[in-house]
Parts: sequence; C-alpha cells; structure tokens
Amino acid sequence: MPGFRKRSPTAPVAPPKAPSLADLIARLEANGRSVDRPFLEKVYAYSAEMHKDQVRRSGEPYLTHPASVAAILADLRLDQTCVAVGLLHDVLEDTLTTRAALEAEFGAEIAELVDGVTKIGKHLYVRKDEAQAETFRKMILASARDLRVILVKLADRLHNMMTLDAMSTEARRRISQETLEIYAPIANRLGMAKVKGELEDLAFFYLYPLQFASLQEKVDERLRVGKKGIAEIRERLVTALAEGGIAAEISFRVKRYYSIFQKLRRQGIDISELYDYLAFRIVTEELRDCYAALGVVHQGWRPIPGRFKDYIAMPKPNLYQSLHTTVLGGRGQPFEVQIRTREMDLVAEDGIAAHWRYKEGRLAPDGADKNVRWLRQLVEIQTEQSDPRSFLSSLKLDLYPDEVYVFTPKGDVFALPRDATPLDFAYRIHTDLGHHCTGARINGRLAPLRTPLKTGDIVEILSSPTRNPSRDWLGLVVTSRAKSKIRHWLNTQQTEQAIQIGRRMLEKELARHKLTLKRTVESERFRKLLAEEGLGRPEDLLARLGYGKATLAQLLPRLLSAEELQATPEPPGAFRRAIGRLLPSGAAAPIAVSGPGDLLTVLAKCCRPVPGDEIVGYITRGRGISVHSIDCPNVRNLLYNPEREIEVAWSREDGGVFAVSLVIETEDRRGMLARLTEAIAKLDTNIRQIEADTERPGRGDIEVVVEVKNRGHLEKIRKALGALPGVLEVSRRMSGSARGARALD
Ligand code: MN
Repeated sequence: MPGFRKRSPTAPVAPPKAPSLADLIARLEANGRSVDRPFLEKVYAYSAEMHKDQVRRSGEPYLTHPASVAAILADLRLDQTCVAVGLLHDVLEDTLTTRAALEAEFGAEIAELVDGVTKIGKHLYVRKDEAQAETFRKMILASARDLRVILVKLADRLHNMMTLDAMSTEARRRISQETLEIYAPIANRLGMAKVKGELEDLAFFYLYPLQFASLQEKVDERLRVGKKGIAEIRERLVTALAEGGIAAEISFRVKRYYSIFQKLRRQGIDISELYDYLAFRIVTEELRDCYAALGVVHQGWRPIPGRFKDYIAMPKPNLYQSLHTTVLGGRGQPFEVQIRTREMDLVAEDGIAAHWRYKEGRLAPDGADKNVRWLRQLVEIQTEQSDPRSFLSSLKLDLYPDEVYVFTPKGDVFALPRDATPLDFAYRIHTDLGHHCTGARINGRLAPLRTPLKTGDIVEILSSPTRNPSRDWLGLVVTSRAKSKIRHWLNTQQTEQAIQIGRRMLEKELARHKLTLKRTVESERFRKLLAEEGLGRPEDLLARLGYGKATLAQLLPRLLSAEELQATPEPPGAFRRAIGRLLPSGAAAPIAVSGPGDLLTVLAKCCRPVPGDEIVGYITRGRGISVHSIDCPNVRNLLYNPEREIEVAWSREDGGVFAVSLVIETEDRRGMLARLTEAIAKLDTNIRQIEADTERPGRGDIEVVVEVKNRGHLEKIRKALGALPGVLEVSRRMSGSARGARALD
C-alpha cells in the first residue's frame, strides 16, 4: 500500500535494558523489598552459568531474557523469591539442570515454582474459537498451583513479546495470537491492567501492523494538536484542586491502542467521536477526597450526562475501583477524568500483584478482610468446601479442583470432570466416536478405557465401526453426557429387541390361527387397534407385546374375528399360561427390569433363583426375559452374547413362594429321609418333591424340592439340614444340563 505508511510504527513497549545483578537489587530496594544479596548473587551466577553457551535469536546472550523477566517482576514490586524464579525460569526447559538439582541448590519452594512455570509452557495452544480459548485459559490457571507461577509466566510472555522482532513472521503471528487470546485475558482476570495493556498493544502491533500504524499516527496527530489544550486543562485542574484543599496527583494518559482499536471497531465510529481516548487521572490520599475532587471537576467543566460511573461504590468484577466522569473541555473536546485513591490506583494497575506486595507475600488469615475477599473473587475459587484460610496461608491455588483439561492430538482442549476416562472424552468429542470406541492412546501409549485422565494428557481415541456400547460401559464413565448417550443406545437396542420378541410372539400365535403377520398388520382391525391405543407404528404395538405391557390374551380378541378365534385348536393365551406355570402360583415374579418398561420376566428353571439371590436377566428369543441366578452355569456359558444381557433386580423380598432344588449328601443311615422331612416341616416349609438315591455305597444322595419365600428362608433350611447328624453336605442344584441350557434361548 504505497503512501499509506508514512513512517514505521514504533513498538508500543520497549524492553528493559539487559539488567545486571546490581540493577535487580536496586529495583527491589527501590520498592522497599528486603534483599538477601548472597542468595541473589548465587541465583544470578547459576542462571548465567547454565545459559552461558546459549544465545537468543536476536544474537544477545540468553541471560538477558531471564534477567529482564526478573526485572519486570521486580518492577511489579514483587519480592526476591519471584525475582529469583524469574532468573531461573528457563533452566529446566533449556538447560541440563534437573528439578532435584535446583532443589538441592535453592530449596523446594524455588524448585517447585520453576517447575510450575516450565509445565505451563509445555501446553501448546491451537487457535480455535472463544470456547477453546476460555478452556485453555482455565487450564493454565488450574495447572498453576501457586499464583507466583502465573505472575512469572506473564512476565516471561511480556518480555518475549517485547523482543518478538527477532522471530520469524510465522512465529510472531502465532505467539501474538496466543498472547491476545490467552495471556492478556489471564492478566485481565487477575486485574493486572498494565501487563494486560502492554501484552495487547504488542500483539496488536505484530498482528495488524497497518491498522496499528494508522491508529498510532491518528492518536499522535490528535495529541500534537491538542497539546496546548491538555496543558491548560491540567493547569486549571491543579489550581482548582489546590483551592479546594485537596491533596492529589494529576496525571494524563492516552487510552491503549488496542483498546481504542477495539472500541472503534465495535462501535463503528471514528476516533474523533471517541470520548475517553484521553483521560486525566486524579490520585488522592483519602477516599473522601475522591468525591470532593469530583465536585471540583464538575464545577470547572460541564459533565456529559450519562457518563458518570461510580466504580468505588460499585467495583468492577475484578474489583477495579475508581470514579469516572466525562466533561467538555474549553474547545468542545470531551475528556475523561478518573479519580481514585493511591491504593485503588495500584490495584487498578497491577491487580493481584499489587495485593501481593501489600501483604509482603503473607496474606492476612482473616476471612473478613476485604482484600482476602477480593483475592477470592478475583481467582474465582469455585469450591465452597475449600477453607480459604489454609488456601491463602499456603499461597496455593486450586482454582478448578473438579476439572481436568485434556487435549486431542490436534490440540483441541476439553474440560472434563475429575476422574473422567478416555470413554468420557470420546463421548465429549462426538457421540459416534463414543459408541465405536475400542481403546485409547494417552500421551502416545495404549491405556485401558478406565484410566482417569490428567490435565495436559493428549488423548487419541481408537474406534471401529463394528464396536458398540455395552452395559458395563456405564461403569467406565463419569460424565452425565456419556452416561445418557450409552443409556440411550442401550434402550434403543432394547426396544429393537422387544420389537423382535413381540413380532415372534405374535407371528407364532397367528400361525396357529393360520394367519400371517403381514396380512394381519394390513387389516382394518389392526389399524383400529393402533388408533385406539394411540400408537403410531405397528412396531410400537410389537414392542409393547415384547415388553410385556400388553399380552396376547388382551390383543387377540381385538385383532381377530370371532370365527378366526374359534378356528383355533388351542385357546389364545397359552403362551401366557405357560409362563404362569413357571411363576409362583398367583403372583408375578417380583422382579424389576432396568430400562424403559416392564419386560415379561420368567424365572429360569435351571437355577430357580429366589428373592435375595444375585440375578441377571437374559433376553430370550420370543419369551421375554429369563431371570437366572448369577451363579447359574448356563448363564455363564450362554452370555457370550453380552448385548442380550439385561439388568434385573428383585423388586421386593417377599411375595409368593419359589421352588428350589436342594441336593443333600448323607451317610447311609436308616431314618434319614424322615429326619430330613421333619426338619423341613418344622421350618414351616412345603416339600414339592423328594427323591432318594443310594447307588453309591455308604452314601445317600437325596434331592428335595422345597418352597421358599426368599434367600434368607433358604439359608435357614440349609443350616437346619446341615446340622442334622449324618448329613455331610447340603447344596443347591443349578442345572448345567442341555435341557436347562435350552431353556435360556
Ligand atoms: Mn522464558
């Protein structure tokens, strides 16, 4: 664009000159910080030694970088520990030093802080959308266990931005983007307006050089023209405040370039229409002087209505406090005036860092302290339980204790609840990825699906189109999203199965009446039945039948004509009665089936479960669900087909009697049978059947079928029989015979 740029834009912030040790000490002392000279000398020498053979891309010795970061930290008025960490912040990343070596040299605290800064740098931010950026910011805040780690990281980033010139165009863009989307918002959240503003202006400078140059020129031009007016206003302000007896410092500032840029773009206006791009700041010693100063300003200049804001009474979310007003200058140029106390000013500029230096690194253990409240709000502590006092006294952060942050191989980051597994992660990305998940690689290594994920893990999901969810997956996930997706899939499958069951039941029954399902479904009677039941599709009716919500006995008279019904060799409902024979007399099996509705349940004949037994359901082809004891050998053998397994539970512990077969091994004694029947009768128990067998020499094998109420009842009988003299063993028969096995299908 020829002629557009009259001159090169000036970088908005210049880096500090490579500070010497003496420099750093001077900065600390200037801010009233105590300095342990031998300690800092040692740290400085150590960093110099470790980085001695390295140079930055700019050609400068590497040490200039950590020393400058240390200087930025010192200028934030932080203490010498922070300054030391600034000096050492790259030794783990870029030199052969280990954490253990650092700890031996400088102690655990310094080693931990340096380690924390190193870890933050390891997460690679891939630009996506605002939600991704927010998750990434939270991850950074969460992975820093100590606030100082964040402060050092911000200083590190600030110095890198100040020296970005040396990097390639590509790297400049990427780092600037990351700064704008991740680090500047973090600085803002911590209330560090100055650091935030510098980061943003530098990123703006590198990302949008033309817009930056153009804006800088316009602002410079306006300042040049307005110079005289600004000086006049300043003089009048000084005089007016002095006359009002108000002790205050007056300064003048231009709004940050990036803030102006955003505001102009957002509101679609020109800089001439911007009211607050220049502002006077009045900093008082006392709070009451703020309001007095406001009076003075409004007396001297006409305030613009609707532009007064009292952030002292109503602080911003990051606890920024100040009075803002906009007034009309002598030449019709509006300008903003900000009025606040010295303390508010420090907090407004440096946020959490300001708070830090107030307390000399020791935060007041008083929960009622307004600064403590401020800190808590600022960092958005989310747990109610965490004791603010212990958290503050140890200076530890745990901002998002219930979350972990996990990456896809492409760099997308997702927040998941603690203990979430790769399966949760798969469902978080896409339902189909979850459904077909076969395994996972965590940080490049195959890992079991039940592995709890950790912040920073890179997770790759392996999948296969033939893989489908199974019921045990519900135990592998913690997110409600994954749970409901799995449940939904299982329920859909179950409905499919119920339709199959219903179809077979109806087909079989119709066949006995010499009718086909196809013709019946097309009949007028069928359509009418659907309409009366409020059902949409034929499948809905079949599903009802399969679930046992409707029976053949109820449906057939409505589906078939009287002649068709009578033309049957057997009356309808034979099927239902066959089931009835298996159930305890007069009572439906007290079984609750998990899932959407009541499926027809049948107690398996092979193992004859009784209430209290652990049970498992098996979806048969055409006969509802057969319920087995979990110990039944048939179940173990036949559940090769896991999707036909279904959860069942006893809905109550009583209700009817259940036949159980007991096998009793005895010595071959006379009167044994009589003693057994007597013992059983004493327990108020009916015997359905009893058989004795004395084929084995010296042994009696007796099988007795008893009617019990539940497992407790059964155990009583077993105990009583086992205690009889001559009884060697009492066991429950669980048939593994082919006949029993067929009963499953
Ligand atoms: Mn660094």
